[in-house]
Amino acid sequence: MREYSGKSVYGGIAIGPIKVIKKDNSQVKRIHITDTESEVNRFVQAKQNSKEQLEKLYEKAVLEVGEANAAIFDIHNMMLDDLDYIESIENVIRTQSVNAEYAVALTGDNFSEMFSAMDDDYMKARASDVKDISERIIRNLAKIEDINSSFDESVIIVADDLAPSETVQLDKEKVLSFVTVHGSSNSHTAILAKTMNIPSVINCPVEIDSDIDGAFGIVDGYNGKLYIEPDESIISAMKKRQQEDVEKQKLLFTLKGKSNTTLDGKEIKLYGNIGNLKDLASVFINDGDGIGLFRSEFIYLERNDFPSEEEQFQIYKVAAETLAGKKLIIRTLDIGADKQADYFNLESEENPAIGYRAIRICLKQPDIFKTQLRAIYRASAFGNISIMYPMIISVDEVKRIKEITEEVKNELKAGGVTFNDVEQGIMIETPAAALISDELAKEVDFFSIGTNDLTQYTLAIDRQNSKIDDFFNPHHPAVLRMIKMVIDNAHKNNIWVGMCGELGADTDLTPVFLKMGIDELSVSPSAILKVRKKIRETDLSKIEDSYSNAIK
Ligand code: PEP
Ligand code: MG
Repeated sequence: MREYSGKSVYGGIAIGPIKVIKKDNSQVKRIHITDTESEVNRFVQAKQNSKEQLEKLYEKAVLEVGEANAAIFDIHNMMLDDLDYIESIENVIRTQSVNAEYAVALTGDNFSEMFSAMDDDYMKARASDVKDISERIIRNLAKIEDINSSFDESVIIVADDLAPSETVQLDKEKVLSFVTVHGSSNSHTAILAKTMNIPSVINCPVEIDSDIDGAFGIVDGYNGKLYIEPDESIISAMKKRQQEDVEKQKLLFTLKGKSNTTLDGKEIKLYGNIGNLKDLASVFINDGDGIGLFRSEFIYLERNDFPSEEEQFQIYKVAAETLAGKKLIIRTLDIGADKQADYFNLESEENPAIGYRAIRICLKQPDIFKTQLRAIYRASAFGNISIMYPMIISVDEVKRIKEITEEVKNELKAGGVTFNDVEQGIMIETPAAALISDELAKEVDFFSIGTNDLTQYTLAIDRQNSKIDDFFNPHHPAVLRMIKMVIDNAHKNNIWVGMCGELGADTDLTPVFLKMGIDELSVSPSAILKVRKKIRETDLSKIEDSYSNAIK
């Protein structure tokens, strides 16, 4: 038996085979080759394997996300047959006597540069596609597993690290648990694990090599442990714990249908956070009152090119219809920092968390913003939709956003498109927004406090940096005082205020937030019933001490 200790991101026990996901971050090396013809054959074989993988991906994607969204895999497949591309690679191998990996990487870079320099937007977007297909061939040459691969059975994923864009591509039905060597507990990958309700451990010093691939493993998400080929005593202890979890969950399910009301009669809304349509089921299972945060950027991360207005409209419409009148708060695109999509062609930055991201991109590139807003407004005719904007720092930004939404509404009206008037809110996740929340409250219909970023920016602690995870303290009085200030300012101006950061699910603070007067909490779906239980056990008339201690 081998035992590794890391940091727990989400509790729970997972038992099953391990699947190692290895990414090759190493630079492709230039190697001199004498037998160039067999190198060309290696390339031809890797290209063929890539085509077969893309065909499978296309078929899987058609079933999961429809033909239009799956088309990208078809385009990639066709690009692999492009004669200029193939001839260039074979020519580099033969004339420079170099290895196929190097020839593919060089050609991929050259073609990608050529595409990005073109005026035509469609051709520009092909720059990231040609990089993608080249990386796929290189992975096949190096016999490295495709991150997109789906699994035949349910597995425990063990990887060095996972970016949010990689996590969203995993076949979630088959993922029992995540274990990563790196990563931060406040990252979006960690948040995804919570949304998916699966035990996960980060900072786990396991060696990522193929000898553990397929081995029997157990993840103890409560204690941040990974066991490989565990002995009998561990297996039976973990099975017992797993059974206890099932029993606990059954008890929590008895709270379904009950209200979120304290013993002394204060009732709040309890919503779920989602990243895509599949997460909706989990909100229903856990009896959420609606969706308090739809992280719409995940729609962008799941694709290789900008989602069209129509594609987005269909997604928002299905969500609104499925919720049948329950609230759906869509947060506009919050891309940037750890959430990167190649086709945005964002330059790398010294400080991406305080860089070109979220609403800043939307205001600088209003075409992207307006496409999304049009899709949301169109979908508003099919349910109870609200919009919320991330990373706000000023009243001017809100005024500009309102001008843009007015333009969108006028355009839709002119085109005879029907839509409902939607509530417009902002996220309070920068200290600037918290400090001027009295002014901001006059401009919007509601606030939602994003405690993940509010903590990061208030404490000057990068939420992505696992080295300083221990300093990331959302219970810090500075954070809690800001939350109180925001709630007070919202109420003074007669608007409602919710919280959609991870702190909303921290039941140690539930009574504190209730006492402060929070109107809504939006949490990972799997945490909804746990928070409901806490609310129903709370008597606000008896918690004066814990309340004042928390913000002291
Ligand atoms: C937050 O910052 O608290 C939040 C909810 O947004 P995200 O975690 O997606 O940045
Ligand atoms: Mg945020």
